[in-house]
Amino acid sequence: MQKVVVVGAGLVGSLQAILLAKKGFEVEVYERRPDLRKVELKGGRSINLALSTRGWKALKLAGVEKQIEEITIPMYGRRMHDENGNLSFQPYGKDDQAIYSVSRGDLNKRLLLEATEYDNVSFFFDQKCNDLNLETNTLEFEDKEGNIKKVKADRIFGTDGAFSAVRTRLMKTDRFNYSQQYLTHGYKELLLPANEDGTHKLDKNALHIWPRGKFMLIALPNEDGSYTCTLFFPYDGEYSFNSLQSKDQVEGFFKKTFPDFYDIMPNLADEYFENPTSSLVIIRCEPWNYEDKVLLMGDSSHAIVPFYGQGMNAGFEDCSVFSEMYDELGSDWHKLFDEFSKQRKPDGDAIAQLALDNYIEMRDLVGDEMFLLRKKIENKIYEKHPDKWMPLYSQVTFSHIRYSEAYETGQKQKRIMDKVMDRDDIKEKWDSDEVENEILEALNDAG
Ligand code: FAD
Repeated sequence: MQKVVVVGAGLVGSLQAILLAKKGFEVEVYERRPDLRKVELKGGRSINLALSTRGWKALKLAGVEKQIEEITIPMYGRRMHDENGNLSFQPYGKDDQAIYSVSRGDLNKRLLLEATEYDNVSFFFDQKCNDLNLETNTLEFEDKEGNIKKVKADRIFGTDGAFSAVRTRLMKTDRFNYSQQYLTHGYKELLLPANEDGTHKLDKNALHIWPRGKFMLIALPNEDGSYTCTLFFPYDGEYSFNSLQSKDQVEGFFKKTFPDFYDIMPNLADEYFENPTSSLVIIRCEPWNYEDKVLLMGDSSHAIVPFYGQGMNAGFEDCSVFSEMYDELGSDWHKLFDEFSKQRKPDGDAIAQLALDNYIEMRDLVGDEMFLLRKKIENKIYEKHPDKWMPLYSQVTFSHIRYSEAYETGQKQKRIMDKVMDRDDIKEKWDSDEVENEILEALNDAG
């Protein structure tokens, strides 16, 4: 039996371990952190993520969809909060289409527990990967006491996140491309607690956004009634992490900028200064494999900014695509790893770009009247001609269309909509047959 080693038991590593176990491999998983299965996850300090269609597909393939469903909260749209505390709502998709808020810790723990069910999976915690020998495919792990363990594998899956040790080794090989780019914005998480009776302080089934042009605050619901709120904010400038140095400055800024949030958020300034400010990085590399020996998956090969809620979903999609490719190509590992890298790399690049573009949409445009009109027109065309037009957000979030294809289609749609929105009479005629026909003709011409 082939021995495969998965480095990193985060979200992608633990899911990949299940899928590999299902295929009958002897799977060893090595993780730097302690065993999450034994850690009692503390209530009230939950960091959550939005799970969507691509992620669900991989979870279903692993047979854990139902178990994960139990710990998610559907969010049917964006609830926007303006400067005066006025609310508006934009559905994400059609009917009951939703993205799902889930605690990162709970999701990771459940995936680990599910993987434990397989006799052919073994876990090794507190084991930090330091290096690997590509000649012999031998990994080197170090425990907390500094003891070194060497592990030889037939195949290695590097799922050790954005600052991957496995990738670091591949970076020393010939013709390996790598880039990392930090945003000028960072983020800070703030926990908005539940009401005393455990209920949510805001509409539970929505992703809340306070868009403010150059920055924004968002909130995702947790099962215990709290919300994990994230302030995406520049490091420098008039309104920035650097400009808010005292408790008074923080209080004053939130009171003026996010008044309805300020009114319901206790201990704001303490929370603000106790929680770290974290950076946002985009990592690109190529190829994602080393011969038939090593394959990178998840953030280790494509770390992206979080504005499309797709980082984990893209990593989970890596797992489902790999599983399907394995079923198709069998164990011609060289071909399999090469093909995987060639196919997924353009998709990783596309979602990296889409996520960057979406930051502007989220922080700036979601409150803009003309932007909302544009969405209304697109939705109308989608309703009437679903075979011809699917809005970019739906392609990315509610479909399995390749990210690279969605990106191309999105560009084409943008050119058409830019022209339509340029009409002087668009506000009056947006719902007319004339505008609809103009769009359909432009689509035909674009091929
Ligand atoms: P990770 O989750 O980083 O896991 C890597 C694992 O490897 C960790 O357990 C780590 O301890 C271990 N490890 C690291 N180095 C070593 C080593 N040397 N040896 C052994 N083990 C090691 N994505 C979404 O889909 N939806 C969202 O809403 C969303 N929101 C986000 C919000 C924020 C603020 C951020 C920062 C990201 C968000 N993401 C979201 C992205 C998502 O968090 C990542 O894409 C996802 O965690 C990637 O999973 P991974 O398993 O590849 O890496």
